[in-house]
Amino acid sequence: MAWDFSTDPEWATQLGWVEEFVRSECEPIDLIVKESHDLNDPVRQALIPPLQEIVKERGLWATHLGPHLGGPGYGQVKLALLNEILGRSECAPIVFGSQAPDSGNSEILAHYGTPELKKRYLEPLLDNRIVSCFSMTEPQGGADPKVFTTTAVADGHHWDAPPYERYSMFVVPGETPGINVLRDVGLGHQPLGGGGREGYVRYENVRVPADHMLGPRGGAFVVAQTRLGGGRIHHAMRTVGLVRRIYDMLCERAVSRYTQGGMLSDKQLVQEMVADSWMEIEAFRLLTLQTAWKIDQHNDYKAVRADISAVKAMMQKVLHDVSARALQLHGSLGTTHEMPFVSYLVESFVLGLADGPTEVHKVTLARLLLKDHKPAPDMFPSEHLLRLREAAEAKFTDKLAGIPRT
Ligand SMILES: Cc1cc2nc3c(=O)[nH]c(=O)nc-3n(C[C@H](O)[C@H](O)[C@H](O)COP(=O)(O)OP(=O)(O)OC[C@H]3O[C@@H](n4cnc5c(N)ncnc54)[C@H](O)[C@@H]3O)c2cc1C
Repeated sequence: MAWDFSTDPEWATQLGWVEEFVRSECEPIDLIVKESHDLNDPVRQALIPPLQEIVKERGLWATHLGPHLGGPGYGQVKLALLNEILGRSECAPIVFGSQAPDSGNSEILAHYGTPELKKRYLEPLLDNRIVSCFSMTEPQGGADPKVFTTTAVADGHHWDAPPYERYSMFVVPGETPGINVLRDVGLGHQPLGGGGREGYVRYENVRVPADHMLGPRGGAFVVAQTRLGGGRIHHAMRTVGLVRRIYDMLCERAVSRYTQGGMLSDKQLVQEMVADSWMEIEAFRLLTLQTAWKIDQHNDYKAVRADISAVKAMMQKVLHDVSARALQLHGSLGTTHEMPFVSYLVESFVLGLADGPTEVHKVTLARLLLKDHKPAPDMFPSEHLLRLREAAEAKFTDKLAGIPRT
């Protein structure tokens, strides 16, 4: 029987290298490059591709893809340990070729793409010569895909978009006529007109070659689940890294700030913040690692749906709570744009929405868990003490016969 929390020595050496590389090479780039996904930014192009080459030489490029999909196949546990380091830095996932949403999109291209689609889109995507987006939710409905209205019909050898009830997924090249980006949308702490990663896109009479359907016709839900299963657990792995970094900031402040006759770290309410944060992070990390391990065992995200939903729901709360405590301990400085806490708080809500709201994941988890439970045999619970005692008495009748009892 194996029951082991240690990291194999070879991988531990790789992780040691990654830790140092992320701190010394990636974290400084976060402060210089405005948008690490933007292939048209000359500053980004000067700084990021050389680091990507180093990562490739080290055998750590695009490690989210298993061997059957053309990746190195380190498995989810090793990936979790790697991602929790990459999560410290905004650009590190890009430097290691495993950034969202390209990681999930490359996974479904590798799973469901035809050889031609793989050659045309997967190879340049994996090489970060192109970037991708995942366009699914609509303004009138996000959490409930059943209310989406965008439709496609077969038209000779092309697909276009009059209203039709069907869920299929397509690879749509960004330069296709009819894809109209109405406007970019920034997050709450960004200035109006800022942003650039999310936006409103209108698809009008978009024509896509017939062979650009990903997976079977009408099979978009299955394809999306493949993508979202991986996307959710990989987000969680990176969040472990981010939240550990925030925890370090919280602790540094606690042992640095002198107030009312002592250090913040001497105050019991502050000690509670440190202890609560550590316990929450460790519980979250262990559940993330265990889920990664289960995915490796089953080789199927669907079989681990409950665990993934649990990790997905936990991720928002841990990031939110640790960020809020760190902000609070930094006093007024914590609320300013000179510290990153406000953006981390917004990020916690983003993680609680993107890939499905926390509430929906809790409901999914509860439904799956409750499937394994049966109703009580009568109006009293099965663990009712009188019932249990009666059964115990019956079990030991012979052994206790003739023994006086008080
Ligand atoms: C930064 C960011 C990036 C994103 N990236 C993408 C992307 O790349 N591609 C894409 O297609 N979409 C993307 N999304 C959209 C995301 O998937 C949706 O926001 C999400 O599915 C929720 O949909 P909604 O925002 O329309 O909220 P709604 O569906 O309107 O839900 C609003 C709220 O209602 C509550 N709620 C909903 N359902 C239930 C329920 N069953 N029980 C109880 N409460 C419930 C929850 O609190 C939920 O937050 C992104 C979102 C963000 C914030």
